[in-house]
Amino acid sequence: MIGAPCAIGLGGNVGDVAAAFGAALAALDATDGVRVMAVSSLYRTDPVGGPAQDDYLNAAALLACGLDPLELLAVLQALELDAGRERAERWGPRTLDLDLLWWDDRRIAAPGLAVPHPRLHERRFALEPLVEVAPRAKDPDGASYADLLRDLPAGGVARLGPASLVYDPA
Ligand code: ATP
Ligand code: CA
Ligand code: CA
Repeated sequence: MIGAPCAIGLGGNVGDVAAAFGAALAALDATDGVRVMAVSSLYRTDPVGGPAQDDYLNAAALLACGLDPLELLAVLQALELDAGRERAERWGPRTLDLDLLWWDDRRIAAPGLAVPHPRLHERRFALEPLVEVAPRAKDPDGASYADLLRDLPAGGVARLGPASLVYDPA
């Protein structure tokens, strides 16, 4: 693998979200210094936080990244804008949300970037696809995400089908 193993979460609940995931993953794979190594299944998930809104689609991707984390975040934010993302209320409906979930054994606390994602450990909609693409990934403190996932309450997350329907990195 060239570059650091890291994982992103994809989410959205406005417009053709599966198409937005596919376009973002293709653009990421075409970005110098970024390779998409694996893409999870698609999940239909209950909204968590924010106003009453439609269900979400969620997925995760494992990347090999030669950029530094803040550079990758800038790429992710540009792709959100390409997908027509608008920020209104916190946790409100969105066309595309790309979160940097996990970066190998690093913990990052920079202005505008916290890694691992601060709410990852409490979110089944993020952990379930993450564990699918990175089954042995651990929190920098050593806790395995697969174990953290097992300890979360069930529900709110339904696996739809393989994400090869969305983007196939092969
Ligand atoms: P949540 O962070 O709870 O998932 P959200 O995804 O709706 O909420 P956004 O409005 O997309 O939040 O992002 C708010 C800010 O979070 C961004 O401007 C970004 O700088 C910051 N941020 C901090 N850590 C991360 C991270 N690991 N991945 C993505 N954005 C992050
Ligand atoms: Ca998010
Ligand atoms: Ca976000």
